[in-house]
Amino acid sequence: MPFELDEEAMRKLLLAGRIAAEARDYGARLVEAGRRASEVCGEVERFIVEKGARPAFPCNISINEVAAHYTPCLREDTVIPEGAVVKVDVGVHVDGYIADTAATVDLSESNQRLLEASREALKAVEGILRPGISLYEIGKTVYTTMKRLGFKPIKNLYGHTIGRYTVHAGLSIPNYPDRRMMIFRLRPPVLFAIEPFATNGAGMVTEASTTTIYSYLGRKPRIPLGPIEERLLGYIEENYKTLPFTPRWLRGLASDDEILLAVRGLTVKGALEKYPVLVEKARGLVAQFEHTFLMLKDRIIVTTRRGEEVEPKRR
Ligand code: MN
Ligand code: MN
Repeated sequence: MPFELDEEAMRKLLLAGRIAAEARDYGARLVEAGRRASEVCGEVERFIVEKGARPAFPCNISINEVAAHYTPCLREDTVIPEGAVVKVDVGVHVDGYIADTAATVDLSESNQRLLEASREALKAVEGILRPGISLYEIGKTVYTTMKRLGFKPIKNLYGHTIGRYTVHAGLSIPNYPDRRMMIFRLRPPVLFAIEPFATNGAGMVTEASTTTIYSYLGRKPRIPLGPIEERLLGYIEENYKTLPFTPRWLRGLASDDEILLAVRGLTVKGALEKYPVLVEKARGLVAQFEHTFLMLKDRIIVTTRRGEEVEPKRR
């Protein structure tokens, strides 16, 4: 665990989890054909702040073949189409203690089996989790569950361990049986997210040309910054540290065009990392369900499960 798990940390982790679960379900209920993605994301992010927490990353609304990393941006929004498969991926932190969770809404109601594949894979992993479990076994369980239901996991999207102020803390948890992962195990105490992405496409994502999410790399570049770049980077560092953010959150600090230009400049100069939109390679539909788990020696808590703030699971 990259942070000490005292009583205070535990309380904050569980609070972040509960707020994330509520925000995810609130966002999912707002998903409707004809509604703008910015409206859903804005509402979800406002909800999180209202509850006394902060978004750990911008609310992601990834539609149909878009698998992940889309959030509405400045001069960039999406209207939810009729019959869409819509992923709502929500991150919440309380003082840097993070919860990461996602759900999928099927507006067509003809893609229920695709959703089922992701949901069942997540459930199957939950059923085998135990201290010392190998990442290989987790990936194998995701793969076999989806295969049985007639779908594929996306091989280059992973679950992950979570640290304080760090959404991806180092270990990637595969959604397919990767033999190289046999030597990697989850040892308590550990906080991690499981997120099996199911598709009827190729089972791989590629980067699109659009980017709407960035994060500060934690060090100012040596290359001189322009005045707007300087000011925005100061704001980003103070408000989001190294957590992902979107230029949409910088609205009003300069004109929209100035913000977009400065963010691009900061990326080129090596101050920001970008997270391009990820699209299924064969343009297949993608479903995703995700929970955050806290594995302790004697129990495993699903921090992002609704109404079960503490779910002891003794073995
Ligand atoms: Mn995640
Ligand atoms: Mn997520």
